[in-house]
Amino acid sequence: MLRLARGRLAGLPGTSVSAESALYVTAPVGGPEQGDFLNQVVELQTTLSPRDLLSALRLIESELGRERSVRWGPRTVDIDILWYHGVSVQEADLEIPHPRMEERRFVLEPLSELVPELVLPSGKTVAEALTLVRDQAVRRLPAGPNEAILGRSRSSPVDYSAVHAEIRRLAEEKEAVILAHNYQRPEVQDVADITGDSLGLSRQAAASSARMIVFCGVHFMAETAAILAPDRPVILPEMRAGCPMADMVDVEGLQALKDEHPGAVVVSYVNTSAAVKAISDICCTSANAARIVQSIPSDREIIFTPDENLGSWAAKKAGRAMILWPGFCPTHEWIKASDVEAARAAHPGAKVVVHPECRPEVSALADAVESTAGMIRFCREDDAKEYLIGTELGMLYRLSKDCPGKLFYPVTEVSVCQNMKMTTVDKVLVALSTESPVVTVDPVTRAKALRAVQRMVEVGP
Ligand code: SF4
Repeated sequence: MLRLARGRLAGLPGTSVSAESALYVTAPVGGPEQGDFLNQVVELQTTLSPRDLLSALRLIESELGRERSVRWGPRTVDIDILWYHGVSVQEADLEIPHPRMEERRFVLEPLSELVPELVLPSGKTVAEALTLVRDQAVRRLPAGPNEAILGRSRSSPVDYSAVHAEIRRLAEEKEAVILAHNYQRPEVQDVADITGDSLGLSRQAAASSARMIVFCGVHFMAETAAILAPDRPVILPEMRAGCPMADMVDVEGLQALKDEHPGAVVVSYVNTSAAVKAISDICCTSANAARIVQSIPSDREIIFTPDENLGSWAAKKAGRAMILWPGFCPTHEWIKASDVEAARAAHPGAKVVVHPECRPEVSALADAVESTAGMIRFCREDDAKEYLIGTELGMLYRLSKDCPGKLFYPVTEVSVCQNMKMTTVDKVLVALSTESPVVTVDPVTRAKALRAVQRMVEVGP
């Protein structure tokens, strides 16, 4: 029934489904005769007015057997407008934002998957309001194997073929290359020319003959592309898509640490701003971090920024002590050792492959610790049939495409990067049409940052 309803929503004129939460099971609200119900929050991009959208929703409900006169009891389907892009409507039969959304965990829980920072009428964010209703009984349904949780489920009826065709037509007309990071939504990955990790994408884009680069990722990635390809505009479809880990290190703080350790070599992960790269000596990726650290003369101190987990993993592999900046990626930090143990118990034959941004105790439990590119290589070459993957959930989609016949399960379903999921196909289409917003790096910063990136390339991939 939910699938049918989602399919109808996607088919409304001027409307597409840009994001959807997982499914939740909720105890009856109206009494035991009602039975448990399934619920989900869906984000729509629509040109319909709130009133026209409401009329369309009532029609869908009635087509699916809903009788609005029945208050409680088996009602088949109930579709409400929770929020309409900040618009407020106060009419007898239509109130936006939905007047009771803040009281209900079954609304806030799925909503928090999509927009945890959305500010509700009370002034609380969705994430804050959720903490007040945790005692209500709501259960998230587990994902099946290979389900790239956010974006769409395997059985999703969302049809992206029309928007994909228009994006591809425009990309050809404008001689644009579309890059998508491995953590992007499946439908965004599907429309890209190249998918991969951040530095690999930037390097391939710089080597291409494209006139314009559209980077479906987060801000530092577009900056890196602008550093490597200064002669072409680099477009980031969602300018608000940042990286909390990159934001954890700033120029002032790093400069102060450098001043305390004047002889130290600064190694910065590519997940940093251009300004931080500019005051670093050399960059690294998650794939080559240990090799970069090994390349530094043994009599020099090393400052590693911004990811403490990647830094301690690289330090261990390279056999070097380092001064670690206390940053972390929240998406990987959420993965706990107990999640690995529980996932292993549920899938005893599966190998555990995690990203080096995970906590040390998580990496210690894994069969392999790999960058995203390394995960693909490992799972392709390895002879196991099932894997538990400890990284952002978008990676499961990429792995299931690249390793047909193998099954992939998330170590935990909480490892979703909200910033990575902000880019939708509709935003890619708008960005291509308008050739904006463009990410730039000033020439002085660019020249210094490029030096750090080039030093890394000289050490090896
Ligand atoms: S997954 Fe982590 S490192 Fe990557 S963009 Fe999100 S917060 Fe940043």
